[in-house]
Amino acid sequence: MSPMQRKQCLMNTVVRPDPVFVRGQGAYLYDQAGLAYLDWVQGWAVNALGHSPEVVTAALARQATTLLNASPGFYHPPLLALAEKLVSLSGMDQAFFINSGAEANEGAIKLARKWGRLHKGGAYEIITFDNGYHGRTLATMSATGKPGWDTYYPPQVPGFPKARFNDLDSVAALIGPGTVAVMLEPVQGEGGVIPASDEFLHGLRALCDRHDLMLIFDEVQTGCGRSGTLFAWQHYGVMPDVMTLGKGLGGGVPLSALLARRRHCCFEPGDQGGTFSGAPLACAVGSAVLDVLAQPAFLAQVRQRSRQLREGLEALSTRHGLGEVRGLGLLLALAMPDGGAVELVELAREHGLLLNAPRPHCVRVMPALNSTEAEIEEGLRLLDGALAMLVHPRNAVPA
Ligand SMILES: *Cc1c(COP(=O)(O)O)cnc(C)c1O
Repeated sequence: MSPMQRKQCLMNTVVRPDPVFVRGQGAYLYDQAGLAYLDWVQGWAVNALGHSPEVVTAALARQATTLLNASPGFYHPPLLALAEKLVSLSGMDQAFFINSGAEANEGAIKLARKWGRLHKGGAYEIITFDNGYHGRTLATMSATGKPGWDTYYPPQVPGFPKARFNDLDSVAALIGPGTVAVMLEPVQGEGGVIPASDEFLHGLRALCDRHDLMLIFDEVQTGCGRSGTLFAWQHYGVMPDVMTLGKGLGGGVPLSALLARRRHCCFEPGDQGGTFSGAPLACAVGSAVLDVLAQPAFLAQVRQRSRQLREGLEALSTRHGLGEVRGLGLLLALAMPDGGAVELVELAREHGLLLNAPRPHCVRVMPALNSTEAEIEEGLRLLDGALAMLVHPRNAVPA
């Protein structure tokens, strides 16, 4: 088959750029032609420690020759070790492991519905948010508030009324006898990197306590050090009842977690599962990754790189007449009020920098958490070059 015919063997679910990527190392991805790209996508904030870090490859090799797969119904050391680690790091009481963020969120939704059946007279509604993102299963798509997503695969799964993010009154207005939980991302990632305000998260905690609702944080994107603390809620000092993790947890290997406090841990045998739930290979990697991410010195380094990146993006914004820089840690976005983010992603790639545009009006950067000062500097320089090429209403005529 020709290269084009081979590409056509794939279902048409995403618009991919032309390069075929053959290798990744640290902050860089390399294509078939041998070109290097500084990668600020990192598998969608998945490669917390960059491409093929030694910590991950060593854990994979060790576990692959020891025990690849036991059974989701058996105990094994990697499962017990990861559960103990996450429970003690998060202050939660119990964990369930699965493969993807959407599946972890499905687990959270089921836990809420079961808890509502047992303790709240069958209440099952989970208040979710406009522009929120929770995954691509039918239930998590229904929980997602991306414009237009309610019409993709009707009928939607019922029970996910939408409030406005950072608007406590809009949440309070939806609370009724059928409400069991509130679910949100502390920073809306796919929605354009919109952080929750302090007052909003504290207000939500109080509201949930007053009405005895389960507060669920989807930390699939913000968790595991991405925000500069191990979990984004630690910035706010607002602890959820239930939390989901994914993306960075496996450092590039599929792994996600559902964590809950004792009071809400109401699953019984048979309620939730999955063939690859808590499999040894993924759990061994998760533990190895967490051992690095959870070190205070590592997180301090993430915050330092975050300041550098934020200041650099702010300087570029001023220079090129763009909008605000927002986000937490190494999950940052540069707003482009006049649009052009999709074009910028293309131009940046031609300059050797991989970025992502979750919306036409902003670009998102998610570098590896162990990026060096020099790598952040290089990315800012490449982005500056790409911005200069952008045909942009405000800088089309050089000053
Ligand atoms: C990526 C993401 C998900 C979905 O994770 P998958 O692994 O793609 O299923 C859910 N919630 C948030 C906040 C995410 O960023």
